[in-house]
Amino acid sequence: MGEFVLPKFQFPALQVAGSQEQFPIRRVFCVGRNYSEHAREMGHDPDREPPFFFMKPNDAIVPASGQIPYPPLTSDLHHEVELVIAIGLGGKNIKKEAALDHVWGYSVGVDLTRRDLQAKAKSMGRPWDWAKGFDASGPCASIHPVTQTGHPSKGRIWLEVNGELRQEGDLSQQIWSVPEIVAHASQAVQLKPGDLIFTGTPAGVGSVNSGDRLRGGIEGVAQFEFEIL
Ligand code: MN
Repeated sequence: MGEFVLPKFQFPALQVAGSQEQFPIRRVFCVGRNYSEHAREMGHDPDREPPFFFMKPNDAIVPASGQIPYPPLTSDLHHEVELVIAIGLGGKNIKKEAALDHVWGYSVGVDLTRRDLQAKAKSMGRPWDWAKGFDASGPCASIHPVTQTGHPSKGRIWLEVNGELRQEGDLSQQIWSVPEIVAHASQAVQLKPGDLIFTGTPAGVGSVNSGDRLRGGIEGVAQFEFEIL
């Protein structure tokens, strides 16, 4: 095989809550619309059409703490607070009934979105990558093992900016449940240990600016707080 021609780069990882261990991140899948109110606020019919996915690069995942840089090429950076599934056991064509056995843990993340680039991409039929997959576009809290959280199917999910509540919903409002999302994703790709799945955001998405402080969380799962630099 031979030596690497470049220094080996660091594997992206998130801290495991309450431990010194880390969760290695392989790929990052994101569900597009998974709460009716958010689908409506984005101008879509919230009918239960099959879930669709897009991706972020794995090194877009950064700890949701400290400072997160305001990205280039946008003047409309949006927050989307989301339940994040951490896959521990891979598989393809996973049955809904067995899907939870593949989940190692959960967290809360923010699907940061360059909304102006996304709107332009949509109007031109172009891919969303530049709107969704920029550096540090996926701040995420520590990964909480299932042994701590169980498999949450309800619980308040919220995000506030500078102390003002912007997004609030409940996991029970998700159009597609965690087992259904895992099952669907595994029909398109073979899921692998270390994959993350962002499961969509409730209503109330909006702009943030440099200097804003974002706090959010999911009842019974995790919380975060960071500043946009
Ligand atoms: Mn999202």
